[in-house]
Amino acid sequence: MSLTRCPNGHMFSTRKHGNLCPYCSISVEPAAVRGGDRKAAQQPETDDKTMPYLGETKGIHPVTGWLVCIEGPQLGQDYRIMAEKNFIGRSEEMHIRIIGDNTVSRRNHAVIVYDPKKRNFYLLPGDASGLAYHNNEAVYSPVELTSYDVIQLGHSKFIFIPLCGAHFEWEDSSG
Ligand SMILES: [Zn+2]
Repeated sequence: MSLTRCPNGHMFSTRKHGNLCPYCSISVEPAAVRGGDRKAAQQPETDDKTMPYLGETKGIHPVTGWLVCIEGPQLGQDYRIMAEKNFIGRSEEMHIRIIGDNTVSRRNHAVIVYDPKKRNFYLLPGDASGLAYHNNEAVYSPVELTSYDVIQLGHSKFIFIPLCGAHFEWEDSSG
């Protein structure tokens, strides 16, 4: 345990109390804290962990729209749709992961595409055995999606809600 001496002579643990003396509430000068050779150990551990996250905020993929589950085990759940291809399935590596419905294929049951140049959405059939339905029609070739279209995969149904398109677009989403 590393002890520090405050200007009034109290000894206390900086690990427990930081730089504030628990007896007289005097703040210990950083110089006093640095007196020991355990400078690194006395830094709050959170400093190291928060730094990388600041750099990663640029890595957020802007959402372009949503699927909202209106029927099936995930009733009420929403799923983010990103620019370009969004593969849908139960497996972890899917962009849109539907869990709890075993009639949804593990991989590539369907694909939703947002084209940032043309600003429109498409539903594509996946390469899995299960069919995808668009407004109750089986999907064999790409169909353009419009607001509140209903997509069915297995026993689950979803409403499509666009964010990007005629009314809104991220400034640099094509970059
Ligand atoms: Zn003190």
